Amino acid sequence: MKYVCSVCGYTYDPEVGDASLDIAPGTAWEDISDSFICPVCGVDASQFDPE
Ligand SMILES: [Zn+2]
Repeated sequence: MKYVCSVCGYTYDPEVGDASLDIAPGTAWEDISDSFICPVCGVDASQFDPE
């Protein structure tokens, strides 16, 4: 399931991960959400909603 930043619209896709954040493809949201910071606007994971 993808997660979307409610502030800026950035989407985290676990199948892709995020190379800019050193998050490998296949990394589940649950495994990173404790420390995830939006790479675009800087909010934390509480501002993300499932797509
Ligand atoms: Zn954002």
